[in-house]
Amino acid sequence: MQQKAVAHKAAFELPPLPWPTDALAPAISRRTIEFHYGRHHRTYVEKLNGLVEGTPYSEMPLEDVVRQTCTDESRRDIFHNAAQAWNHSFFWASLTPRPGRPSEQLRTLIEGQFGGLMDLNGEFAKAAEGQFGSGWAWLVFKDGKLSVQKTANADTPMMHGHCCLLTIDVWEHAYYLDYQNKRPEYAKAVLNKLDWTRASERLKAETG
Ligand code: FE
Repeated sequence: MQQKAVAHKAAFELPPLPWPTDALAPAISRRTIEFHYGRHHRTYVEKLNGLVEGTPYSEMPLEDVVRQTCTDESRRDIFHNAAQAWNHSFFWASLTPRPGRPSEQLRTLIEGQFGGLMDLNGEFAKAAEGQFGSGWAWLVFKDGKLSVQKTANADTPMMHGHCCLLTIDVWEHAYYLDYQNKRPEYAKAVLNKLDWTRASERLKAETG
């Protein structure tokens, strides 16, 4: 995501989607992806570039910008746009038209902590549905354990040192065109598009 800052070049770029815009339909329509990625995500990146221009943040990896601004009230605008840029890139990389299965390593953790993938999905759905207002539902890993979390607005477990495995965007812009106010239906559909292959790879990379 991050690019070396050079003259006349934006510090951060909108990364390409990992699949065609209609690949997740009908769970997420092409129209929703076009608005969500092409307008919302793009706007976070563009606003961030405007805010960091000429500052040391323009030369940092995006993760470092998020971590260094998350507790600084005077940098709230930079934090919000940097975190939303990161969260959205991670969201697209959490989804796939071919969900695959958890690796043995991930499956063992899921079974030990949740009972099974269905049970974990139930917790994930509860987090997605239960987040009051805008935010995110997550599957994260830290200190040998998985956990399902929800965060508000732009907050991200990444800034608290958790290894993020998967996320679901539950801001209204993520589902309103397809589901209007029915967030539980959106969550249920998106749970079937989570990329368990990549989640397994992230866990493996984290645990060495
Ligand atoms: Fe979003």
